[in-house]
Amino acid sequence: MRILITAGPTYEPIDPVRFIGNRSSGRMGSAIAAAGLGAGHCVTVIAGPITVELPPGARRIDVETAAQMHEAVVAEFPRHELLIMAAAVADYRPRAKHPEKMSREGVLVIECEATKDIVAAAAESRRPDQRVVGFSLEAEGNLDRAREKLQRKQLDLIVYNPINTMNSREVRAFLLWADGRSQDVPAIAKEKFAKLLIERTTELFANR
Ligand code: C5P
Repeated sequence: MRILITAGPTYEPIDPVRFIGNRSSGRMGSAIAAAGLGAGHCVTVIAGPITVELPPGARRIDVETAAQMHEAVVAEFPRHELLIMAAAVADYRPRAKHPEKMSREGVLVIECEATKDIVAAAAESRRPDQRVVGFSLEAEGNLDRAREKLQRKQLDLIVYNPINTMNSREVRAFLLWADGRSQDVPAIAKEKFAKLLIERTTELFANR
């Protein structure tokens, strides 16, 4: 199977030196890439500005912004059967990038616009032989929001995890499937979770 994985944060430029970003390290995406390779799959990783190494053997495409990640997913997804959208894509980006470094004067207001939802667009345009998996980082116990995202974004599977998963070595998660099934996964190392996720996503292809 060919698996496309997105990992890490995106950086949305304010001016040539500043950006809006988030604390994602890319550790989860990297662990999923390693698990995919370990199970004998071909893996492409579209990486935002990550602070962790990717496993050798993964094809790597580096991006910085949500728009670049979107473009890369659109270009790459047709060559893959599975998309796992583990990236913490910025929800908003500054409407305009200042061409020069801004100086400190009075109050700064940055007008932002929503980024395009990459995983929803990929799910909408997928072929019958393709599957799409997303993540939902929520406050503890907010499973209903994850379920709502699974439906709204038309995903095959969503991984709900509480906010303290970000930048951590462990993950505590719930897997939620489009057909209503769910699995509660106790806190385990991201590497172990990644293996479980690859097994579960492989099963998504059983009835195609
Ligand atoms: O809506 P929310 O950001 O919580 O949804 C999380 C899921 O959607 C993740 O899989 C994330 O990678 C994806 N996402 C995306 N494009 C965005 C925002 C989030 O693909 N602009």
